[in-house]
Amino acid sequence: MKVTLADYSGFCFGVEKAITTTFEELDHKDKSQKIFSLGPLIHNVQVVKELEERGVMVTEDIGSIQEGSVIIRSHGVPKSVYETADKMTLTLIDATCPFVKRIQTIVEEYYKKGYAIAIIGNPQHPEVIGINGWCDNKALIIQEEKEVENVPDVDKLCIVVQTTMSIAQFEKISAVLEKKARLVTKFNTICSATKQRQKAAKDLAEKVDAMIVIGGYHSSNTQKLVSICNDIRPEATFHVETSKDLPVEALKQYDLVGVTAGASTPKWVINEIIQKLRNI
Ligand code: SF4
Repeated sequence: MKVTLADYSGFCFGVEKAITTTFEELDHKDKSQKIFSLGPLIHNVQVVKELEERGVMVTEDIGSIQEGSVIIRSHGVPKSVYETADKMTLTLIDATCPFVKRIQTIVEEYYKKGYAIAIIGNPQHPEVIGINGWCDNKALIIQEEKEVENVPDVDKLCIVVQTTMSIAQFEKISAVLEKKARLVTKFNTICSATKQRQKAAKDLAEKVDAMIVIGGYHSSNTQKLVSICNDIRPEATFHVETSKDLPVEALKQYDLVGVTAGASTPKWVINEIIQKLRNI
């Protein structure tokens, strides 16, 4: 079996930065200092476990923290979290990805200018929940084209998109959404890491017999990669989290196998899977 890794895969710049910041903080903290992460730092079970072993406690609610430092992960958080941390004199370690920070800034600015805000993305995703928190949670959140029917007409509309959405989905939804307002300002805020990974996965899927997509089952950017590969190789796209999940028997029939990985996948997980594939 010949195994090829996509040109862009695995840890993106934002995740890399969040992990480095956290490990640096852990190296320098004194033993009594408590460190919390608001939600799991990344969508990777192994990394979260290692952080727990080093004393990082995961909580979803900043209100439950009495003292210590709080890590804001790359997805970012609503503005209210900064205000709460300030009131409670908690130290913030802000690892919000700059691509996400940019969306929060746009949304805050246009909301203040009187624009209605539309976020194209998954309403349950922490990044989208965080962005919505920069416009008093008043954003219209649209995940699918058919939902646009229920959007009321507005005078001025500012459209942004979750960093990990697929470009095709963004273009399709925003084209319909634009008809709902007299004045529209649209920002394609899909991050460059996502664009590169999606394009590289598509290019590779076209050249191989089967695709392995590595990444957390709950990771949004990994699910997008799965869907892109599925469109090209509907019978031969396999989503796995670790090498244990590889469907070894099913893979024996393929000569050329491509591998891609979501933005939260550490290099060692990718290497382990490639090694196992080469041994099939
Ligand atoms: S996927 Fe993009 S926006 Fe999200 S953390 Fe990575 S670089 Fe930042």
